Amino acid sequence: MLKKLLRFAVLPLIIPALAVSADQGRQFDVVILGGRVMDPESGHDAIANVGVRDGRIAAITQEDITGAEEIDATGLVVSAGFIDTHFHWPRPVGYKLALRDGVTTPMDLEFGTHGPRVGEWYDMHKGRSQVNYGTSSSHEAARATVLDGITDGFDAPGSGPSVRHGHGWAHGVLDAEGGNRLLGMLDEGLRQGALGNSSTLGYWPGALAREMFEVQRLAGKYGRLTAVHTRYTPGTQVTEVNGAQEILANAIALGSPAVINHFNNPGWDLVQELLVRLRAQGHNVWGEYYPYAAGSTTINAAFLRPEVWVDKLGHRYEDTLQDPATGKFMTREQYEKTLAADPTKVIILYKMPVSEIPKWVALEGVIAASDGMAPVYGGWDQLPWDTAYEDLPNAHPRTAATHGKSLRIARENDIPLMHVLATFSYYPAKYLGDTGLKAMQERGRMQEGMVADITVIDPLTVTDNATYEQGTLPTTGLPYVLVNGVIVVKDSRVLPDVYPGQPIRFPVEKESRHEDLTAEAWRAEYMVPATGFHSLDSLSP
Ligand SMILES: [Zn+2]
Repeated sequence: MLKKLLRFAVLPLIIPALAVSADQGRQFDVVILGGRVMDPESGHDAIANVGVRDGRIAAITQEDITGAEEIDATGLVVSAGFIDTHFHWPRPVGYKLALRDGVTTPMDLEFGTHGPRVGEWYDMHKGRSQVNYGTSSSHEAARATVLDGITDGFDAPGSGPSVRHGHGWAHGVLDAEGGNRLLGMLDEGLRQGALGNSSTLGYWPGALAREMFEVQRLAGKYGRLTAVHTRYTPGTQVTEVNGAQEILANAIALGSPAVINHFNNPGWDLVQELLVRLRAQGHNVWGEYYPYAAGSTTINAAFLRPEVWVDKLGHRYEDTLQDPATGKFMTREQYEKTLAADPTKVIILYKMPVSEIPKWVALEGVIAASDGMAPVYGGWDQLPWDTAYEDLPNAHPRTAATHGKSLRIARENDIPLMHVLATFSYYPAKYLGDTGLKAMQERGRMQEGMVADITVIDPLTVTDNATYEQGTLPTTGLPYVLVNGVIVVKDSRVLPDVYPGQPIRFPVEKESRHEDLTAEAWRAEYMVPATGFHSLDSLSP
C-alpha cells in the first residue's frame, strides 16, 4: 500500500519533468555535438551541443541531446554561417563554391540588380536556391539604361554582355531629366525590397558629385545603405581616401548608411580610421576587404587606360595585368588588342604588396567580402550544377576562397579566431540589421532563437586552395554547412537537390519614395528668397 501511494505521489513530479525535457528538444531536427561554439556578439566561447529545430537554433546546451541527424563536431568550431555582402555570381554553381567557403548568405551589394527587375530577381531564386539570397538596386544598370539605352540590364552575370558595351554608362553626364529617370529606376528596386542602392562609381568618370549624393539620399529615405566602389579606385594613397571621403561626407550629411566596397587599396589605414571614428559617433558606415593583393574586373575599366594606369598610377601592364584564362601577363599591345576584341573580358589586376593582407584581416569592425566574380555570363542554368570544380571557367580565387584564406592567414599570424568570425558573420549581420533588415537581425549569431545558418570549421586545417591559375578549387576544412537549419554541406560535399535558401529582402512597398528633383525646390530650401535689396520703405515710420 505504501509502495502504491509512493508511486502515485511521485508520478506528478515525474510527468512535468519528462514534459520539460521533451520540450527542450530531445527531438531536434539536427544536433551538432561537442563543438566549440563561438559567438562574437555575446563572447560565448565554450564546448557545447547545438540543437536545431524548425530552422532555428533551439538549444545551446551542456546536456546530452539527440536529433534526427547528428553531426560530431569534436575538435571543430561551430560558427554562424558566413555572410558575404559582395558576391557577383548569384547562380547555382557560384553558390556551390560559396557554400564550400562557408558562406550561407552571398549577396551582391556592389553591382546589384536593375531596379525594375528586383522582384523578378528574387522570384528567380524562389524554391531553388541552396543559400540565402539578396541584392541591391543597381546604379550601374540604371546608368546604362538611361545613357546607352540598353533594355536588358539585370544582375552581374545577367547583364555583363550589354551593360558595359556602350560609352555612356561610364562617361555619360546626366542632365536633370536623365537624373530623375535614373533615380526613379533605383527607387523602383528599393520599393521592390532591395537592400539598398549600389554604385560602381569608380568606373564612371562621367558621374557628377550631385548624382552620387542624390543616390545616397534616395537610399536614406528608406533607411537603407548605399554601397560604393568609390571614385578613383584603384588609385593612390590620396585619391583612394578622397573617394571614400566623398561617400562618407554624403552619408553623414544625409544620415544614410554607407559601405566602402573593398578598401584594401593604398590609403586603407586612413579609410579604416575614418570608419571606426564615424561608427563611434553613431554613423552606420562600414568597409569591406578581400584578402588578395590583386583585384579583378573587366578589361574596359576606364582606370586601366594607359593615361591613368601607367601615367598617373605608375603601373606597367607587364607586371600587373594578367589573363586568368592563360595565366600570362599582358603587354600594352596585347591589352589594346584584347580591349578592342573583347571589351568585357575579365582580367586580374595586381595592385598591393602581399605583406599587407594580414593587416586587413586584423582590422577592427571590418567585414570580409569576396567580390566573387562570375567567370561566365548567362541565366540561372548557365552551367551544369555538377560541373567538376577544376573544369569551371577560371575566376579570381577570391570567388572560391576568401573565407578559407582569411582563416588560414589568421592562423598563421595569430589573429584571434573570434575576431575573424565577427568579420565573417556578426558585423555584416549587425550593420545590415541596423538598417532595419529583419532577416539580418536574426542571423550572424550563435544564439538560441536565431536562424540556424551554421558553418562548422576545422580550425587547424581550414585552408584556401584556389590560386590565380586555378581559381575555382574549393576551400577545405569546412566540413558542414547548414542553411535555415538544413544540412547543405555534409562531409565537405555540397548535397544535390537541397534548396533551403530564403530571401534576404525588405517588404515590398506600395508607394515610391522618389520625388523628381527640381532647381526651384533646391533654391527654395538653400537660398534666401529675392524679396528686394532696396526695401528701405520698411525703415520709415
Ligand atoms: Zn568593385
